[in-house]
Amino acid sequence: MKAVVTGGAGFIGSHLCDHLIAHGHQVTALDDFSTGSSANLTQLSGTPDFELVHGSILDKRLVNEVIEGSDTVFHLAAAVGVHTIVDKPLQSLRTNLHGTENVVEAAVAHKARFLVASTSEVYGKNDVDGLTEDADRILGSPLKSRWSYAATKGLDELVAYVYGAESGLPCVITRFFNIVGPRQTGRYGMVVPRFVRQALADEPITIYGEGTQRRCFGSVFDVVPAMVRLLETPAAHNKAVNLGGKEEISIKGLADRVLDLTGSQSEISYIPYEDAYGEGYEDMQRRMPDTTLAARLIGYLPERRLDDVIRSIIEHNP
Ligand code: NAD
Repeated sequence: MKAVVTGGAGFIGSHLCDHLIAHGHQVTALDDFSTGSSANLTQLSGTPDFELVHGSILDKRLVNEVIEGSDTVFHLAAAVGVHTIVDKPLQSLRTNLHGTENVVEAAVAHKARFLVASTSEVYGKNDVDGLTEDADRILGSPLKSRWSYAATKGLDELVAYVYGAESGLPCVITRFFNIVGPRQTGRYGMVVPRFVRQALADEPITIYGEGTQRRCFGSVFDVVPAMVRLLETPAAHNKAVNLGGKEEISIKGLADRVLDLTGSQSEISYIPYEDAYGEGYEDMQRRMPDTTLAARLIGYLPERRLDDVIRSIIEHNP
């Protein structure tokens, strides 16, 4: 495989580069280092089959140049993290909309199969009370820029479907549900690395909201091989597939696990959502993937236990 990984210096992207190189493929990573870092790829420097290109997916000419001659494109570059999206809505919109179109267009032009990373957030808040005109129910409402991420990712899916269907090239959309592991940064609001960093520094562990919200964290080491297998499985082509873990836990429960596994004396402090993200911010109470489709298509079975994932993050904490 001659693969391009956009966002290759990011958390999931760098693990994907490791996996592809370990399996004998040629890899070019394209990244602007906005949330990722070349430090995530130092282990691959000097590897003849690996190249890291510093640049943006918004640079159409560069994207085209990098993808030319490849047969597979994994598109992971995106503006991610609630803070990034809320603080820089316009830039995030551009990256996720125009950037994706540049990448998918180039993949199609060069007849490369492609995978586009999407998110569980496309499912919205999942509450099914009577529908009112509240701005927070509208994906991408300017008043609720948090949801603009979901809206752009929904459009990314549409771009992938349409280009995939019209070109006849294999294309896969993966909807990630709270993927965690070493190299994920807590700087942009990601909860597990943030809790680990706070616990190791004996600083208060900050829970946004009441901590009753429930999540299911998936290991990057389960998800990365699944991405490759999905692209290689014709029955998965032109499908959106959930990928995530299977152990559900409350955010307070997660804080307790992190305290236990780090042996930290940190206190837990609760911060109202409005103080963390601004007025009107809300979060889903529960987010849990159904991975039946991935299991049926590629035998996907998340194997890593949450405690082991937390331990690996503790070990790799910079
Ligand atoms: P990440 O921030 O570590 O990775 C994103 C990478 O894209 C970074 O390296 C960043 O520098 C790069 N990037 C951003 N804008 C760019 C641009 N204009 N040009 C080139 N590179 C650019 O985050 P991640 O968690 O590894 O996310 C990877 C993908 O998975 C993203 O598309 C994200 O939306 C999706 N995703 C991740 C999760 C998760 O739980 N980690 C959940 C849902 C979706």
